[in-house]
Amino acid sequence: MIERNFSFGVHNRKSFLDYVEAIAADKEKKYCILAVDIEYFKFFNKWFGMPAGDEYLQELADYLTSMELKYDGYAGYFGGDNFALCMPYDMDVINSISDNLSAIALKKADSVAFLPAIGVYVIAGNDIPAITMYDNAIEATFYVYGNYEKRVMVYDAGMTCRVEEELQVISKVKEGLRLHQFTFYLQPKCRISSGCVVGAEALVRWNHPSRGLVSPSAFIPILEKNGLIGQVDRYIWEEVCKTIRGWLDKQITPVPISINVSRMDILSMDVPKILDELLKKYSLEKEYLKVEITESVYTEQVEKIIGTIDRLHEAGYTVLMDDFGSGYSSLNMLRNAIVDVLKLDMKFLNMSERDSKKGIGILESVVNMSSTMEVPVVVEGVENHTQEEYLKAMGVRYAQGYYYYKPMTKEDFEKLISDERRVDHRGIRNRHVEQLRVNELANPELFNDTLVNNILGPIAFYEVYGDEIRITRVNELYYEMAGAGGELSKECKRRFWDNICKDDKQKVMETFEEATRNTAKGARYEGYFVKIDGTTLWIHLKLFFLKEQAGHKLYLAVFTDYYDVNEKDSKTYR
Ligand code: C2E
Ligand code: CA
Ligand code: CA
Repeated sequence: MIERNFSFGVHNRKSFLDYVEAIAADKEKKYCILAVDIEYFKFFNKWFGMPAGDEYLQELADYLTSMELKYDGYAGYFGGDNFALCMPYDMDVINSISDNLSAIALKKADSVAFLPAIGVYVIAGNDIPAITMYDNAIEATFYVYGNYEKRVMVYDAGMTCRVEEELQVISKVKEGLRLHQFTFYLQPKCRISSGCVVGAEALVRWNHPSRGLVSPSAFIPILEKNGLIGQVDRYIWEEVCKTIRGWLDKQITPVPISINVSRMDILSMDVPKILDELLKKYSLEKEYLKVEITESVYTEQVEKIIGTIDRLHEAGYTVLMDDFGSGYSSLNMLRNAIVDVLKLDMKFLNMSERDSKKGIGILESVVNMSSTMEVPVVVEGVENHTQEEYLKAMGVRYAQGYYYYKPMTKEDFEKLISDERRVDHRGIRNRHVEQLRVNELANPELFNDTLVNNILGPIAFYEVYGDEIRITRVNELYYEMAGAGGELSKECKRRFWDNICKDDKQKVMETFEEATRNTAKGARYEGYFVKIDGTTLWIHLKLFFLKEQAGHKLYLAVFTDYYDVNEKDSKTYR
């Protein structure tokens, strides 16, 4: 007699295996073993608590018991979150069982992260021990992990080799971390118009003693499946911080480096806290470290991911959505998860000869949408001039790919950014942010930034209170225009009307009003401008309303064109 030991009300391991041996000996029966394992159950317990975890297991157990009765099968419990069901082999029935188990899981956690994975071993005679049959069924569950569409896999003999290989990778990774075999390459991100480097992405590499430099695609997916990715990622994040610290110590101005954060990292650790600790340890500013999160991440455990992104934002990090367009719910995700930059991969755009129209269409709509949402786009995987031309025409401003630079060692990257001509420290931003940057010019530290000055031409900030207009700040080029030779006395600076012909006062006031009404476009103005020495210029300017504080309105004037009315020589900035 088989004893019935209750564990969640199902048979214990020994009873189950005895039953399987008996079934396998019966040539009349075509049975199979279903191994049921809950993905990330460890985290389920961590987030929802052990009692909720037990409830979840109990429901699974109850369901399996009902299947045992319905199909003349036998359910078993193997400890932890491992259940098994031995029953007649019928894929339709198995698929419906899988659907029902998934439904239970979704009811419990409202997330695909904790779906049960089902591995099936088809019993064909009793030439192998029952426990090996069960182990094979378990092996098949490994192939379900991470695939949220298909939750059932039938074991085939080839799986054992692959699993063995994976296990080898896993043990070697641990050793590799200890022996510092992991490192990273840096691939620059460029401003398309100039080819200058605006940032870089850190890409892990494994310096394997016998296999040489191993690319991440050979080990990242395995590590993600086994939860080991966190260890590698933390190691790389720290190496990146160390490297940036090294540059600063050598007086090299770094560009922001983005690190890859995988789904598992967010599920298994407190990413914002870890990054904060690293930045503190290496005394780095947040602007130097950016976070890339792969889009597929957003499709699971949405709340947890969005919560993490929110916290990263609160802490002041920039978050890039990686591989945008590779998943199926991209648009929804864009709406839900507020990210700062979108990364689109050429390879997801189907830019083959035949399909290029479609790819371009997708690209165009994403670029338009992102510009509406004021999220800048970086296109990666750019490999040739033709692609670059397309991107330019569409208004994409940033790119990453072999066409610009391949991933390189940090030493090579250091040489690259040491040449200031090849670097653009404005980084990646959308037009909206650039406007804010202009606002930041009120910050005296940036005020003398020659680069920004040259981009903008002469500019001035005006403060309007009642009908009084004061000049609060101007830049170098404004001094030059006003003929002040770089020195404008305090009084001069404040006496706005001195620069304006009396007859134009009404027109000037109207321009300020128009700019206030039209915050996005601003207002245009042209008219006379009286220089310090009394001579006259004809000026063109655009006026923007910036903000209002306690009845004081702040405006920015950008002088787009001016020329001396006497000498007819002109200087054009736009
Ligand atoms: P990813 O984040 O999308 O990184 C871009 C990949 O495209 C890199 O491959 C890069 O070398 C490659 N690539 C760059 N330009 C071109 C191009 O013009 N043409 C083509 N065909 N490919 C280009 P890599 O370094 O092999 O990395 C593969 C993936 O591995 C990454 O994709 C990322 O998902 C993951 N990964 C890399 N480093 C890390 C890491 O430190 N942590 C984690 N969690 N994942 C990482
Ligand atoms: Ca990436
Ligand atoms: Ca990518």
